Amino acid sequence: MITFQDVTKTYEDGTTAVQSFNLEIKEGEFFVLIGPSGCGKTTTLKMINRLHNVTNGDILIDGKSISDHNIHELRWNIGYVLQQIALFPHMTIEENISIVPELKSWKKGDISKRVDELLDLVGLEPSTYKKRKPSELSGGQQQRVGVARALAANPPIILMDEPFSALDPISREQLQQDFLSLKKKIQKTIVFVTHDMNEALTLGDRICLMKDGEAVQVGTPEEFVNNP
Ligand code: ADP
Ligand code: ADP
Repeated sequence: MITFQDVTKTYEDGTTAVQSFNLEIKEGEFFVLIGPSGCGKTTTLKMINRLHNVTNGDILIDGKSISDHNIHELRWNIGYVLQQIALFPHMTIEENISIVPELKSWKKGDISKRVDELLDLVGLEPSTYKKRKPSELSGGQQQRVGVARALAANPPIILMDEPFSALDPISREQLQQDFLSLKKKIQKTIVFVTHDMNEALTLGDRICLMKDGEAVQVGTPEEFVNNP
């Protein structure tokens, strides 16, 4: 479903962040990119939704080059969750989540139902949290709202860049466990960046280990444990 064909990314200052990168991410797969800081994980992620351009090679989504996809459609179809989730501070949780479907001109009642469904999905009781402001939530709860917002328009692909790494160890562990059941329920293609091997082994269907912009090893968690 997402295919990297010999992708290289060189930034304007001459830094080559990703080099001759080949990879096939299957539909519905929870795919983890792992590696030390600076190895090119974020660059790889941001090329998928064209926040960065590919310098050489190509990325295909459903067999079609991302450069042939309409950029707005591409962004609608790809949810994005960052380490520091940027919720709008003056808006309620409900407003923060519904900003996505509202832009797609849903009916009010449908949006409200969708927000409840999404909050349930990420483990936040809708009646308790809907009307709160982001500052009235813990970091882990805000991160859950970020995930709900990324899921709101029901995009087939979700990109996640170290979504749990700013959290305390206990919230992090809890979110990892909740994600294990969430990923079965939502059945989406998820590309997940982390530098934590335990997190990769816990969550990933498959893992790609990167070093200096290249894919060093690709395999299932079992293959990583048996052949480190
Ligand atoms: P990671 O996500 O694995 O930490 P990045 O993709 O952020 O790695 O960075 C890969 C390499 O590209 C690093 O050497 C980084 O310094 C460099 N880099 C990242 N963004 C830019 C940029 N906008 N301009 C120039 N170099 C960059
Ligand atoms: P960088 O060297 O930082 O990766 P790029 O050349 O990849 O810069 O892209 C520059 C900026 O232009 C990026 O922020 C990207 O979001 C934007 N961009 C790239 N392609 C398009 C496009 N087709 N339509 C709108 N914006 C685009």
